[in-house]
Amino acid sequence: RFITLEGGEGAGKSTQIGRLADWLSSRGIAVETTREPGGAPGAEAIRELIVKGSIERWDAMAEALLMTAARRMHVVQRIHPALEAGRWVICDRFSDSTMAYQGYAHGLGREPVDQLQRIAIGGLKPDLTLILDLPVEAGLARAHARGTQTPGTGEDRFERMGHDFHRRLRDGFLDIARREPERCAVIDATADIDAVADAIRDAVASRFEL
Ligand code: C5P
Repeated sequence: RFITLEGGEGAGKSTQIGRLADWLSSRGIAVETTREPGGAPGAEAIRELIVKGSIERWDAMAEALLMTAARRMHVVQRIHPALEAGRWVICDRFSDSTMAYQGYAHGLGREPVDQLQRIAIGGLKPDLTLILDLPVEAGLARAHARGTQTPGTGEDRFERMGHDFHRRLRDGFLDIARREPERCAVIDATADIDAVADAIRDAVASRFEL
């Protein structure tokens, strides 16, 4: 089983991935958690390039190509072997982030992003995608509370991109969920950590009949 968590900045993905992994493990399921961009050595190197890079360095297409190159190595070296071995994989961001960030928010459009995923990873899709949805203002507030978006980089991607970018990003994730309702579950991320964790458990339990 392949589960991904998606959402904008400040949605609380990493906390919830920890909770979900603990819960699945307690039920005797072998779980691996990983993240994008990254999750494999070459992919982590690409993460450094993009996340720490200046905003002018890559345009939307170049970003999508880099993200997708990173994803290919992550799938080949990590995700595919784990799934083959019967483990469950929970991934922090996947192709939907490339669609939402580069496709919708940066304006590249859906088709190029879809095409790249077909070429690079054979269109591999998660069995379940949990979209942690949060109003832009709430995400902004949480991001500020956390300090910099990307620890150690000394810069705040959230602020740099601006409010309109994050509105397009949120609408993008919601549109993805509307297009693929069987795969995607939208989770209200404004609730407290325990309530969000419960909603995620419910979605996972019903999808996989646990
Ligand atoms: O998952 P996390 O919030 O740590 O994401 C790392 C950074 O990469 C974020 O600042 C996010 O905005 C950025 N990102 C991006 N395009 C993607 C995926 C992530 O700009 N496709």
